[in-house]
Amino acid sequence: MRRKVAILGATGTVGQRFIEILKGHPWFEVSVLAASERSAGKRYSDACTWRLESEMPEEIGEMTVVETSLKAIEKAEDIDLAFSALPGSIAGPVEEEIAEEYPVVSKASAHRMDEDVPLLIPEVNPEQLGLIEVQRERRGWRGFISTDPNCSTIQLAITLKPLMEFGLKKVIVSTMQALSGAGYPGVPSLDIIDNVIPYIRKEEEKIQFESLKILGTFDGSRVKPADVIISASCNRVNVRDGHLEAVFVELEAKPTPEEVEDAFRNFVGEPQRLKLPTAPEKPIIVKDEPDRPQPRYDRNEGGGMSVVVGRVRRDPALTIKYLCLGHNTVRGAAGAGVLSAELMVAKGIL
Ligand code: NAP
Repeated sequence: MRRKVAILGATGTVGQRFIEILKGHPWFEVSVLAASERSAGKRYSDACTWRLESEMPEEIGEMTVVETSLKAIEKAEDIDLAFSALPGSIAGPVEEEIAEEYPVVSKASAHRMDEDVPLLIPEVNPEQLGLIEVQRERRGWRGFISTDPNCSTIQLAITLKPLMEFGLKKVIVSTMQALSGAGYPGVPSLDIIDNVIPYIRKEEEKIQFESLKILGTFDGSRVKPADVIISASCNRVNVRDGHLEAVFVELEAKPTPEEVEDAFRNFVGEPQRLKLPTAPEKPIIVKDEPDRPQPRYDRNEGGGMSVVVGRVRRDPALTIKYLCLGHNTVRGAAGAGVLSAELMVAKGIL
């Protein structure tokens, strides 16, 4: 039997990706679409400015959008799980309200750094699912909240995980982030045409803090942050989808670029071992061409779920430098949420 899911923020950039990825999903079916009171009561096709290349599924277009509250969702349908793609500024209390009754898998930032909330990348830190038990005991909820990291952090952390074996000490990252990362309608066209904006609000802090929790050690009750120094500088560029990041790392073991490429190529995690429906065969794909990865050509690798790495070379200042690319609304957002929920099903949590 497929589990019934609600999508919160269903009309937005990430909400639309959830609908696209969940179409025909073997384990989940979309049963409730929730958004703001501007959209509530309307047919989804009237409330939503659909901005994906795939067609809006017909049956989804016919559904009526409900308000984002526990009461409105329960009135609409019995659900097993909610995916949250709400703005970080409003997600906090409403996710808590829903988590009293149902599991919430969230793409919003509100609860990511809460001590008892997983900040999950299924390939990187599946053990953080153990925090759900801690959270339930502490908060007395029937449901729970589990979060996925920020989009530019997910792809970075996936590449940092296999580097931990070389003794990861320092990371410097400069991002070139796509426009869809700012939601819809996002950055005004006159601000970004012929331009790069060297500032994305709170993004650098998210990369710096979230990465340490993601790569940290779970001792059964809390996560001890990783002992790594991370410095980020974030830029918005005139690309539709796909964040590109220039990464510089200091590694204690001083591996060669070939050894680092091998570590990237050989990296797999629980989703691959469990053959989860949304798991890419390879979490990291290494490109040999000297001018790749590029957003336009490489963002859809592994159905948008693989992180594409290239230009792995020695760095005269630290140890190794490379480029990594990830699809921000798939691996960085809706795909991450769906993969997290699939892992929870496989582990008997959902
Ligand atoms: P978006 O395109 O602006 O969509 C926002 C959604 O939230 C819409 O469905 C909107 O509904 C709804 N909403 C807005 N105010 C609301 C309110 N007061 N009550 C209930 N619903 C409300 O944003 P997005 O890019 O999809 O981002 C959604 C979340 O995912 C954010 O937390 C963002 O940081 C995170 N995220 C985004 C990306 C990305 O690449 N875009 C990647 C990772 C994480 P209406 O249509 O009714 O206004």
